[in-house]
Amino acid sequence: MLPRTLGDLRTSQFGDEFHRTRTIKDEMRTNLIRRLNEKTPIFPGIIGYEETVIPQVINAILSRHNMILLGLRGQAKSRILRDLITLLDEVVPVIAGCEINDNPFKPICRRCRDLITELGDRTPIEYRSRDERYVEKLATPDVTIADIIGDIDPIKAAKGGHAIGSELSVHYGLLPRANRGIFAINELPDLAGKIQVGLFNIMQEGDVQIKGYPVRLPLDVVIVFSANPEDYTARGKIVTPLKDRIGSEIKTHYPVNLDHGVAITEQEAWIQRNSARILVPEFVKQVIEAIAFKARGDQRIDKRSGVSQRLPISCLENVISNAERRAILAGEDQVIPRIADIYSALPSITGKIELEYEGELKGADSIARDLIRQAVQMIFRHYYPTTDFKQVIEWFEMGGHLKLSDLDPASSVLSHLERVQGLLDKIDGLGVKADSPAGLHAAAGEMVLEGLHSMDKISRSEERGFAASERKVPGAQELYRDYTLERNRYKKPLN
Ligand SMILES: [Zn+2]
Repeated sequence: MLPRTLGDLRTSQFGDEFHRTRTIKDEMRTNLIRRLNEKTPIFPGIIGYEETVIPQVINAILSRHNMILLGLRGQAKSRILRDLITLLDEVVPVIAGCEINDNPFKPICRRCRDLITELGDRTPIEYRSRDERYVEKLATPDVTIADIIGDIDPIKAAKGGHAIGSELSVHYGLLPRANRGIFAINELPDLAGKIQVGLFNIMQEGDVQIKGYPVRLPLDVVIVFSANPEDYTARGKIVTPLKDRIGSEIKTHYPVNLDHGVAITEQEAWIQRNSARILVPEFVKQVIEAIAFKARGDQRIDKRSGVSQRLPISCLENVISNAERRAILAGEDQVIPRIADIYSALPSITGKIELEYEGELKGADSIARDLIRQAVQMIFRHYYPTTDFKQVIEWFEMGGHLKLSDLDPASSVLSHLERVQGLLDKIDGLGVKADSPAGLHAAAGEMVLEGLHSMDKISRSEERGFAASERKVPGAQELYRDYTLERNRYKKPLN
């Protein structure tokens, strides 16, 4: 049973010297050191930062710093900040009814100090959980001092008969309400300079001015921020004294390799659905991830805003849904996505890339299709670095062509693929075994054709489906040359 009065609290474990006087930064530091000693992972759900970001966050906490995470969108910044609550105690005692979670042994608000004078050891105590000790705010230009720090409430003053400048007439903002907790501000550069100064004053002195009245607020908070790196370093966006007070500046990044990306996407995407058995081939996951990798390196896409990890996450969800739709319509009992499903998932891709001028000229759809094709090529080359597909290519050059629809059931796709000589012999390269489900055979066979298409070995068009590469169609070159000659003949000589 947790103590319910100040008197009982005094004689409990919460009443020892350390608990009475420590700050939240001491509390996090102590819990962190215990976890490090126990060798338990610190932020277990965060993949790919084990050797880069996480050690720096740990050092910041050991140093009792306020910190900022600098990174592009979708780099798990908010997630790391939210995970900081795992370093808090299960519960902390506060004076019951206090708006700013006052420490029973060191109350800062006037109401609580008056209450203790009146009730002494009978002062009631309540507790705050970890979740209740995290306050988050997205900075936007219209956020005011009143939102973050507080406002003078004339009605409160009149009712209580307090002077306007008295702390009893203050209506507290988010930061005081985060007292004894973690206060996170996302996109710090969007916060007005005046509020940045207010934050600095509280971090520095515990004094702040509200509507010209000085109010003393010696808060006990960890303030953590996130920002886009370019905005943060742009001149004049952050007031220098505030920047000085942020002890650690930690840069986040996108997954450094495809495997990390695949693991993050698998963890975050909604894959386990109730409806059917879902099997996403490894190469489909990798192609989806490669789309994000290709997009991050593409000149036609705005580097400043980045390409969020939410692109592959939404894409995978959409790809599974398209396969799910096919399975329902075709009465299949397994949901096995193929590359065609990625093309059907364009709506989950186009909204997540900010185009540069050159990209805008081409349009988001066409850029997205191009990225899928590049991604297919990257993964195809990975699985088949040296394989000879001559027989397959020749089948098309002899005039063969086949059209596959994303709604064709696996059996129908396979019956088409079987016609292409030498094709299904090669799918073991994609990890498909003889006893793998038919849907996986179909997906792998289609992947090979998509791979050959991505390398211009065969073509793919709306009306004919997969066919010989246009350059290889007998007579095509000649035809084109004749046409050019013909056209030139009618050109007027310049003189
Ligand atoms: Zn209080």
